[in-house]
Parts: sequence; structure tokens; C-alpha cells
Amino acid sequence: MKKEKYMSWDCYFMAVAILSSFRSKDKKTQNGACIVNAHKRIVGVGYNGLPRGLSDELPHVWEDEDDKNIYCSKHTYVIHAEQNAIHNRISQNLEDATLYVTQFPCKECTKSIVQVGIKKVVYLRKKLNHEEENKAAELMFRSAEIEYISFNDLDIEDKEFVTLLTQTNEFYEN
Ligand SMILES: [Zn+2]
Repeated sequence: MKKEKYMSWDCYFMAVAILSSFRSKDKKTQNGACIVNAHKRIVGVGYNGLPRGLSDELPHVWEDEDDKNIYCSKHTYVIHAEQNAIHNRISQNLEDATLYVTQFPCKECTKSIVQVGIKKVVYLRKKLNHEEENKAAELMFRSAEIEYISFNDLDIEDKEFVTLLTQTNEFYEN
């Protein structure tokens, strides 16, 4: 007997992105990303964190000072989830790949996404108070003919699972 109800691809891949975000040590923002190739195979995952080999105990690297002091800002040291997923990929070929990501990409990640040939971005939420940067990313996506869509706008029936999974992050709150 075939099971009638099972997880959609979109929900599955976004769930992998969310699970990856649970690895992040950033107190304020935990993001995850999952790259899926044209054959629906996961070829890269990542979360926001320090470059390989850098100690998480280094002073200043997790400070969030809004870039007033570049030496003491996490924005100097942390690699975003999308970039990490791209760096970690097991396949060179990302043509027609889809990126599932917990937050709409920043301008820097957008450039990398465009450059490696990803053709679609599915995001969970948009960063508030970053309208201009979001607009710039959208401009780049549109110009490069990359589709971007909010997970909530997808035509699938199991979106609620992702909402429930997001809430489980409280398990790791301290
Ligand atoms: Zn980014």
C-alpha cells in the first residue's frame, strides 16, 4: 500500500535548511541554506558561522556592534549560510539548482548565487529594515533571470510542518 500523505520536496529541502540553521552559534540570527540540483539531489548545506579553523572562542568575533568597529564585529568574520552552502558543495555544477534558505539573501550572497548558476531561490523570511538591500538583491535576481519566491507563497499543503520545525529552535535557547 502506498502512503497517501508524505512530505513535499519543498518542505523537505526547507526543513534541511532549517535544521542546518540550528548549528549556528550566532546568538541573534541563525540561518541555514540547502542547495538542490536539477535532479532534486542535495549538493550543499550551510549555516552562518566562522571560516574553517577559526576558534569560536576568539574575542570579538561574535560581537554585534553594527559595524562601528570592523575589528569587533561579527559581520567581519562570519560567513553567511548561502556562501557556506556554496563553498561546501559536493558538485561543481549548480546550473539550474535551487537554493532553499531561511532568510532572503543579502547583497553579497546574492552575487555569489548569481555567479554559480543557481536559478531559483526559496526563502522563509525577509530581513526587516533592510528594504534597500532587499531591493538591490531583487534587482540582481531579476536581471539574471533567477526566480525568487517566499516559501509561504508555494502551492504545497504541508507548510505548517516548517512552522512547527522553526518553533523547535527554542530547544537550543539559552
Ligand atoms: Zn549573505
